[in-house]
Formats: sequence, structure tokens, C-alpha cells
Amino acid sequence: MPYEGEFAAYRPLQRIADSDQVRALLTRAKRVRVDGAGEGLPKPLDAPPSDVALPELVLAIDGSNAEVKVTNGYPGARVGYITVASVLLNLKLIDALDEQRPVDPVKFRTTEEAATLPAALPGSNVVTREHISARDSFRAELYDLFHDAIVDDDDHVRLIETYEALLRLKPDTKPQRCPYSYDGCGESVLVRTGLTECGCQKRRAIFSTDALRVHEGFRDDSSNGEVLGEVMQVWERLLLVHLLRCFESRGMLSKVEKIAFIIDGPLAIFGHPAWLSAAISTELKRLNAKVAQGGGSDLLIIGIEKGGTFVEHFADIDIMVDEDTPLFANRSYFLPDDGYIKKRIIYSNSGKRYGADTYFGRKLFYKTANGSRIVANIPFLDDDQDTLDTSDVSRYPQLPLVCELLDKLVSSRFENALTPIVSAHAHAAIPLHLGEKVLKQLAAALMKDD
Ligand SMILES: [Zn+2]
Repeated sequence: MPYEGEFAAYRPLQRIADSDQVRALLTRAKRVRVDGAGEGLPKPLDAPPSDVALPELVLAIDGSNAEVKVTNGYPGARVGYITVASVLLNLKLIDALDEQRPVDPVKFRTTEEAATLPAALPGSNVVTREHISARDSFRAELYDLFHDAIVDDDDHVRLIETYEALLRLKPDTKPQRCPYSYDGCGESVLVRTGLTECGCQKRRAIFSTDALRVHEGFRDDSSNGEVLGEVMQVWERLLLVHLLRCFESRGMLSKVEKIAFIIDGPLAIFGHPAWLSAAISTELKRLNAKVAQGGGSDLLIIGIEKGGTFVEHFADIDIMVDEDTPLFANRSYFLPDDGYIKKRIIYSNSGKRYGADTYFGRKLFYKTANGSRIVANIPFLDDDQDTLDTSDVSRYPQLPLVCELLDKLVSSRFENALTPIVSAHAHAAIPLHLGEKVLKQLAAALMKDD
């Protein structure tokens, strides 16, 4: 998603207002927590030096979405757009060209968007084909979107196949409301892969993507920004898993350590499709185990949070004692554990682990070599790593590399966001447009030195 300064170029004014409101709310909440602070501050540790070389490539996955009003004769008709861009950064090129003036992020973004086909989804009052409501049109289009999304021209494995592989990992214990419950259907359904039917007399279509339950948040009478946000976060994370699975099926997993994967936002799935998080976690652990069997090191996957409670908290504690002597020295980190998060960041008395239902990774506070504060997320790649009980980093062997990579990518001008990271290095970026020969390009980049 665009970073702050870019907003004006892409978002309707409504969006800016929304985001100001969100920020104001966070500021109010923050004050409550900061009272009585000073004690219990974390003790940041120096980032251990990495004894292996940085990966040669960084694959950044970054989505954006917007909603526009359309004229179709009905009031308030809207259509949503989603774009998920993946960009390959060549770290060697960054080295070679780092002296050059950074590219204007807005300009870069414009070029990037011009070449990327956004996916459109019906919003309120937009009814397609034979559907009986905008909601059902949305459901059908969402299925088609994942079904038609071919990441690679030569490969033809559809995004829906990766999605349905994850759907098969979903426990059968929780049937959901029939998607036609708004129309009076009282059935509960277990959504399966492909196209099925509701068990009631009307036998209406159930799509595998109905299991995401995104449609339950669909609004017939107003903006569907939240719904679009959920689809976008699913698509971004699905694309990560999809690419890894493509590497696997092509016998290229052994090369994957040459690539770091960076995604926009936390390593989590929020809202209606949250169950997908556990499935992604299981799949990442499986893929990582396979990489390890081949003698490789852990996958290098980083989520970068550009806003929210953790970003605010990191900023708060860093300058809490003394604004001139920050708590975090450059190149120091802190891995908040469950107790710390519940006591200091997201207050909770619950015995359940923070983010147990939503996260497939955990937070890392890191201050880069140039003093930028980054709230990164690192994934749980085996059961040993799948814990918030400890701040001990020895079970996360990629942490030194993560820190070094962030040092390299983040400039102090653009902290806490992925798009600026990509934009700042636009001269070394290859946009991987979905539907083109993405895997071929990747394979070519990976095989170059062999
Ligand atoms: Zn039904």
C-alpha cells in the first residue's frame, strides 16, 4: 500500500479522512498505556553478526486496493479494485547503483500500476450475470478471480490450486453459515474445494472461496473497503505460498535461499479468513522442512508493519527515558514475548497466546544501522519456533540475516513501509507482472551464477 506522502496521489479524500481518524484513535489509546511507564522497559540486544552472505534477490509482495463509484442506474453503486504487485530486487545491483539518486516513489508507483492489471470486484449495488444480489456477484467474482489468476504464463498452476491446498488443511470441525443465509437459508455448510451446492432444496452454488467468509462482511448499502482489504491480504499471502510451491514443483527449492521474501504487513491473516493463517503456517513448516532436508537453511521471509499499535509502541519506548538517548542503539533488536505484549502493548488477561488465531509469525523490533525503527515479523518455520514464550533468538537462525537485510534496504527517509523500500531501489527492481513468465524470470535470476 502507498506510504503516507503518496496518499494524495492515489486515494479518494475519504480514505485520508479514514486514516486520520484511525491515527487519532491510536494516539488517544497510546496515552493510556504510557502512563506509569518507565519500569519494565525491554533490554534491546545487539544484533548478532551474520556468518552467511545476504541473499542475492529480494522478492517484495505488495498489494493495494481502492473503491470507485460507478454509474449503473442504482444509487451508490461501487466497484472495488485490487492490485497485488510482486517486484524482484537485485541486491547486487543495489550495491552497484546505490550512489544514484533515489527514484521518486510516486513516479515509480505510477509506472508500476500502469503495467499491472488490477482485479475488479463488485461492490454495493453492482449485480453481475444471473446473480440475485451484489453479495452473490461478489462471491462469484472472487472465485473467478482466484480461479483465473495464473501467476505464470508457462506454468498454468492457478492461484486457486494453492488456495484449495490450504483449504484442505482446514479442520472440519466448524461448519459455517450458508452464504445464502441472508436470503433465508438455514443450512450450515462445510465448504469444499471447487464448486459445490448448498444441501437445501434450492441447491445454490457454493464456491470454495466461500470458506474465506469474506462475503459475510459485504455491505449492500455502503463502502466495502474492509472486504477489499481482506481479499488483498489473502491474495498477498497466498502469492507467497504459491511461489514457494511453484519452486517446489519445479525442483527449485534448493535455490530458494538466494531469495528473501518481503511482504507488506504482519505475517497474519485477520478478519473473516483468519483460519487461513494456521493453514499457511502448516504449509510453510512443510516447505521449510523440505528445504532443510536438502541441506538448505531456513526460508527467509519478513513481514513489515507500517503502522499500528506495535509501531507506535516501539516509537514510544525508544524515546521514553530521554529523547536524546534512545533506548535502542543502532543495530539492536527486541523480540517481544507473550507476557510483554499483553502487559505493555495489547492489554490482555487471557491465557491464550497473543495472535494465536491470526499470526503465522512473531514481531521483531529492530533499529537499523542508520537508526530507522522497523517492526518486522518473522515466520514460525518449525514447531520449536512457534512460540511467544521466550525472547531467546537462538531458535530463529535467520535473525542475523534479517537484521542485516533490513540495514541494507531501509533508508531513514522511509521507515516502516515496503513500497518505499522497493521504490527507493527502483533502479534495481524488476516488476513481475502476473500472467507473464514470472517463474521463468525468477529461475533465470536464480540460475545465473550456476
Ligand atoms: Zn443454503
